[in-house]
Amino acid sequence: MRNTIKFGSYFGIPVRIHFTFPLILVAFGVEGGLRGGWLEAVWAILLVLTVFVCVVLHEFGHSLQVRRYGIEVRDIVLLPIGGMARAEKIPEDPRQEIIVAISGPLVNFVIALFCGLVIWVRRSPLDINGDFLFHLLAINMVLGTFNLIPAFPMDGGRILRGLMAMRMPYLDATRYAKNIGQIIAILFVLIGFVNTQFIMLPLIAVFIFFGAIAEERTVRLKERLGGKRAEDFVCQHLPMLTADETLENASVIVGDSRLFAFPVFDAHGNLMGVVETRELKDALVKGRTADSLRAYVKTGFPLIASDTPASQVYHFLRSHKLRLAAITRQDNGFLGLITIDDLADRLR
Ligand SMILES: [Zn+2]
Repeated sequence: MRNTIKFGSYFGIPVRIHFTFPLILVAFGVEGGLRGGWLEAVWAILLVLTVFVCVVLHEFGHSLQVRRYGIEVRDIVLLPIGGMARAEKIPEDPRQEIIVAISGPLVNFVIALFCGLVIWVRRSPLDINGDFLFHLLAINMVLGTFNLIPAFPMDGGRILRGLMAMRMPYLDATRYAKNIGQIIAILFVLIGFVNTQFIMLPLIAVFIFFGAIAEERTVRLKERLGGKRAEDFVCQHLPMLTADETLENASVIVGDSRLFAFPVFDAHGNLMGVVETRELKDALVKGRTADSLRAYVKTGFPLIASDTPASQVYHFLRSHKLRLAAITRQDNGFLGLITIDDLADRLR
């Protein structure tokens, strides 16, 4: 992930921190120093570091559990709004998803319980302001509880989705979880505006709101395109045009096609590139009828094998902001074109 610094590897999982973390530490240190001298500064930095460490431990709770289900964890990323364990996928079995989601907050509650026990055994009078153990307990209670709020895709929301998915189709459960998550996100924004003490809430709300949309789309994609391959969506009945064809001839051959683009071949029948229908029409309007297609050929599109899963093609085109790919047969010959719109149509 961009703007992150690798901060070691634990249990074989790299931990990355966002570059703003040193800045956050300095800011809290300076603020503490101005308030009560250097001792206060050290105290403030110590508390912020403690929060970071507890968030990382929380993420390890998720990561180690998800790995037990045979799912690889790429890394743990610490962002200013919270931590994120990036696994290659989310367990599809609702029971496993619930256990993975609960494992993070559970780590915090175990730490809190440990602190509580030590404080209890110690039996010395409790100085709430200056007692590190008490702060550690409070930080972990807040982290554990906050993450259990059922705002999908936060942990509580994942647990909710898992519970619903045991009783209804996975996509429906995801939709409900998404809607509930978005309502809570809106509440977070309102709370943040009413009380500036909770200034982080609107930021987290943005993450929840758009995170929920992205998660729902991924599930929908899997369901609608699942089992389908690139060849199932390929547009094969395309005009055969060579690069030396004039725009005028090309427009006659293409007719009033609704194709986004059409392929252009060299004299040996090899694919050279594509010409966008819109560009052809624009050029004709400008009277460039005698131009050859060659000048309008574009090559910036991927070649994708026909047996590639359709969902993978969709992800690839989307993440690279591409509209079109050429699909090739087993023998690498040209099969046809696929556009992201053809795929997106199936997702409505
Ligand atoms: Zn979590």
